Amino acid sequence: MEVTTLECDVCGEQKSDKEEWFVAISTVDMIRFCPASEWANDRWVVRKPEDICGQDCCHRRLSQWLDEANRKRSANRGQEGR
Ligand SMILES: [Zn+2]
Repeated sequence: MEVTTLECDVCGEQKSDKEEWFVAISTVDMIRFCPASEWANDRWVVRKPEDICGQDCCHRRLSQWLDEANRKRSANRGQEGR
């Protein structure tokens, strides 16, 4: 029997079969969400996807990512302005 315990990488909730989960892949310049049921593991072998328990956590993860991206952008701008 296959029992895998997945935890949401945003809120830490454990996976139950009832909810639709998502996976997120993020790099420096993009973030991507995909329903876990449609996830093909071999599509992005470079990185381990983050497990996300639902739409709310997708939004939270996206906000985190945007905050990071903004921070990096303003840091870069600071260097160029010299
Ligand atoms: Zn969550």
